[in-house]
Amino acid sequence: MMGRLASDQGKFFYDFSLEDHVPGDHLLRRIAGVLDLGWLHAELSPFYSHTGRPSVDPELMIRMLLVGYCFGIRSERRLCDEVHLNLAYRWFCRLGLEDRVPDHSTFSLNRHGRFREARVLRSVFEEVVRRCMGAGLVGGEGFAIDASVMEADASRYKGVPGTDEIDWSEPRYDTRAAREYLDALDPEPNPARKTPKVISISDPCSAWTAKANKRVQFGYGLNYLIDNKHAVIVDAEATPARTYDEVVATKTMIDRTNKRFGLKPRRLAADTAYGTGKSLAWLMEQGIEPHIPVWDRSKRKDGTFSRADFTYYPERDVYLCPNGKTLKTTGKVLSDNTLRYLASTHDCGVCPMKARCCPNMSFRRIPRDVNEYARDYARSLAATEPFETSRRERKKVEMLFAHLKRHMGFERLRLRGFSGANDEFLLAATVQNLRRLAKLAAIPPPPIPKAV
Ligand code: SF4
Repeated sequence: MMGRLASDQGKFFYDFSLEDHVPGDHLLRRIAGVLDLGWLHAELSPFYSHTGRPSVDPELMIRMLLVGYCFGIRSERRLCDEVHLNLAYRWFCRLGLEDRVPDHSTFSLNRHGRFREARVLRSVFEEVVRRCMGAGLVGGEGFAIDASVMEADASRYKGVPGTDEIDWSEPRYDTRAAREYLDALDPEPNPARKTPKVISISDPCSAWTAKANKRVQFGYGLNYLIDNKHAVIVDAEATPARTYDEVVATKTMIDRTNKRFGLKPRRLAADTAYGTGKSLAWLMEQGIEPHIPVWDRSKRKDGTFSRADFTYYPERDVYLCPNGKTLKTTGKVLSDNTLRYLASTHDCGVCPMKARCCPNMSFRRIPRDVNEYARDYARSLAATEPFETSRRERKKVEMLFAHLKRHMGFERLRLRGFSGANDEFLLAATVQNLRRLAKLAAIPPPPIPKAV
């Protein structure tokens, strides 16, 4: 006999429990088991007035944001709709079946206002890292660092040449992102920095980039510092998508990790972009082994002698050329942080090897980085077993980026400015750590506080 659906959607009373409708192995149930936001109200209380109408619960908004970044719903309007309709999302946010979901406008107001002022997203991220540490997921021995380009919320067709004078005082440029850009501008221009080729009017903090073989666009660098044991992200930082800024972020993140968690790695793995003399020397000063291939462009491809064909004698501070002649330096450090070692015109003029050494010049010059000792040290580590292990472990950062883009749908930023990019990156990193913690550590869920 054919059955007919006999239901009454207009019923007033239901025997229904949200708890019974979220499967035991649902990702959000596993994340809820390791997430504790019990400290949040106390931390945010100085940012709320003690009088007036009660606000939307900040814990509810943070939980909603975590749901959004977990399932690739980053539009606040859509997130509010999804939480309204999805039982598991409601359960995770501790909303009852009849509770109202906050309006999306309240949401963005808090994100740009008191959440940012209280740096609450960084606190949530750090709390999750501490829980990972408590669960034994952080070894603290070997770290890896890398950066990935994230497209900014800025049209690539609306840039202006970096050499143009822009009158930022015009009312149409009075935006949050432009104010942040102007605040971050150096009063003293740094000679090591080139003028950007193109600047975005809508998000001037982003960089015009064609990195990672992508089409040219405005973007931010998502920088992750991870612990190699279980690929827990111990710090995340937003920079313009430029190699220079990404390398500078290494120092910021290593210092901050040490200060916030007392974690200082014994070795750091990274790709060649981080293998500059300056960066390697800083790591050596910190007592961190640089498991990083050296950035070296001294190899010549035209058949003439490369720098490696010349031998350096540190005790005399000279190079000896393949013909046994001496190259000396005046000791003057040039703008690219190098010293020049020069052969004599007399020696080179009569040298039988001149055609293979300096065919178009009267004498040979050899540049040497002032931090060449650090580069030599990094080279000496390159053939070792621990270096090979670090090289393999470094892939874990790339896998985190791939997971973020493919599975969490994070390809383009929604918020502008460094603060916006940092907020988004911290949320993404928090969710990735929570997923890992939920998978690898079974911590009993915190008790749900009763309503008063
Ligand atoms: S050309 Fe000058 S620097 Fe080069 S091998 Fe001859 S003497 Fe040495």
